[in-house]
Amino acid sequence: MTEIERHSYDVVVIGAGGAGLRAAIEARLQGKKTAVISKSLFGKAHTVMAEGGAAAAMGNVNPNDNWQVHFRDTMRGGKFLNNWRMAELHAKEAPDRVWELEHWGALFDRTKDGKISQRNFGGHEYPRLAHVGDRTGLELIRTAQQKIVALQQEDHRELGDYEARLKVWAETTVTRLLLDGDRVAGAFAYVRETGKFVVFEAPAVVLATGGIGKAFKVTSNSWEYTGDGHALALLAGATLLNMEFVQFHPTGMVWPPSVKGILVTESVRGDRGVLKNSDGKRFMFDYIPEVFKDKYATSEEEADRWYDDPDNNRRPPELLPRDEVARAINAEVKAGRGSPHGGVFLTVVDRMPGGAEEIKRRLPAMHHQFKELADVDITKEPMEVGPTCHYVMGGVEVDPDSGAALVPGLFAAGECSGGMHGSNRLGGNSLTDLLVFGRRAGLGAAEYVDALAERPAVPEDEIDKAATEALVPLAREGGESPYAVHSELQQTMNDLVGIIRKEEELQQALEALEKLRERVARVGVEPVAAHGGRGYHPGWHLALDLRNMLLVSECIARAALERAESRGGHTRDDHPQMSAEWRKVNLVCRLTGDPGDPRVELRRQPMDPMRDDLLALFETDELKKYLTGEELPAHVKEVI
Ligand code: FAD
Repeated sequence: MTEIERHSYDVVVIGAGGAGLRAAIEARLQGKKTAVISKSLFGKAHTVMAEGGAAAAMGNVNPNDNWQVHFRDTMRGGKFLNNWRMAELHAKEAPDRVWELEHWGALFDRTKDGKISQRNFGGHEYPRLAHVGDRTGLELIRTAQQKIVALQQEDHRELGDYEARLKVWAETTVTRLLLDGDRVAGAFAYVRETGKFVVFEAPAVVLATGGIGKAFKVTSNSWEYTGDGHALALLAGATLLNMEFVQFHPTGMVWPPSVKGILVTESVRGDRGVLKNSDGKRFMFDYIPEVFKDKYATSEEEADRWYDDPDNNRRPPELLPRDEVARAINAEVKAGRGSPHGGVFLTVVDRMPGGAEEIKRRLPAMHHQFKELADVDITKEPMEVGPTCHYVMGGVEVDPDSGAALVPGLFAAGECSGGMHGSNRLGGNSLTDLLVFGRRAGLGAAEYVDALAERPAVPEDEIDKAATEALVPLAREGGESPYAVHSELQQTMNDLVGIIRKEEELQQALEALEKLRERVARVGVEPVAAHGGRGYHPGWHLALDLRNMLLVSECIARAALERAESRGGHTRDDHPQMSAEWRKVNLVCRLTGDPGDPRVELRRQPMDPMRDDLLALFETDELKKYLTGEELPAHVKEVI
């Protein structure tokens, strides 16, 4: 058998985005020997790409904001399918996590009176996103990395070794979780540069691997978003929650083809940008759904007044939650009123009081992105935009308070975990989700380790199986090309499980995925010259990632077929209404059958009813739009 390096930790965090770094910092602060592993370069996680900001009800710009309003907005955005306890913890703890970041050195934009500035975003009642221009995620990661370095310097002073209690493993990909019986005992990985295998022995593992976007053809996500954490959890015996909810961000670039899907931040709309069709009509006024009718402006005049006087006007409909805007754009394009390259127009030209200079100051990354990639000057011309697969609301089912998954010793946080955002995430809620639940998962893992009577041991046959599985594509001569199989998988998901879904198309998707499963099992790659055939071998890496993308795709398609209603990031053409009965149901995936060829099993699981004090935060009329009669609080039932 091939040579394998072994290392021992208390807590292993898989993923070095915002969730992973915050979890690792917390585990280390709790005194645990911690490793943080990243498939990409350290610092190059998706979190870096987050532009708009981090949503936290600090009330700096509008003092009426507070956690209760944020909680309400989050539940509305998720169409009441959110794990309400997570939404509560998030709304309550987000301000502390942002202030903590500032304390660690983050340089947020300021208000005139020197507080952290907050900007408007879709679905948030008040300006709520703490931001650093349109590069907020970069500052979050920079600050977390700085904190990690500070902790390592502390360890060096105390123990003579920077990495004594916190080590970063960059460009290292985990392909399997290792179990001792039914509990986590570690993780198996390969190092990208050399292909060398590494076993991490650890009683607690935190998954923080981000999303699944690379299972779709048009996406704002980059190469490392292949659903690894979702698949690792499934393969270890954990469950995934509500995988049908995939967020298609309304505004991705549509032209040129090489950059199709790259994100155009929602801050463009938050900063007065408007959407227009080919007739020059500001069409979003035609798409305000019944549940939001009283909260959004019905005329352009009122919408424009709102930016300066939000207390006396209703919000522009361009700032509806993302699912609504994405569907509206889709409908305009389908009706033949799209832009030349199959999107619609988004424009900030003549929309900001400070003209071109203000556009460049408020949206520097967007100005740069369009100039460099599409030769469009957004201070003079509109942008062409259309929906792009952006975020997965579904993920590992966890305990809201500790981030613990169903498998003892396994924790999850950030985009790879499920529940917090319900059927649709509000922009800006992810960055604070990472901080709030990253911290909680790191703490949960540390407390789990403290409570262990005996550390698990990694069984040798678990390691052998993981190594054999990883080597299979290299050993197969004349196998299928992983690139061809990946491309077909992406096309299938885009065409049949995309933004608008239908029963027969979902069934076709499942049949296509079954055929792809056979092809994934035949994928083969040639060894390369370096490091015994495995050094820097993207074909081999993709061959291994395909297992994960196939598993998450099947979960998404099965759950999408099962949920016969439209809600948030799941739109069924054949079931266009939201159903109060379906709101009580979570769809849960797990693997069953032969561990060598497992099958996805889906089951319905009732939602926990929301606590009365949280229900009391909503108007009765609003609750009636979402809940069934028997779920309504007693005082409401008496009235109806
Ligand atoms: P990531 O930041 O993606 O980190 C995942 C980590 O896991 C990476 O280090 C990766 O290398 C690693 N990894 C993955 N698989 C493996 C494996 N098998 N082994 C080892 N490591 C692995 N949200 C907001 O709230 N506000 C915004 O303004 C905003 N803007 C966005 C803009 C863009 C373009 C995109 C794509 C997303 C945006 N989001 C925004 C969403 C938000 O950025 C992400 O949801 C969030 O950053 C995910 O963080 P994470 O820590 O869960 O994962």
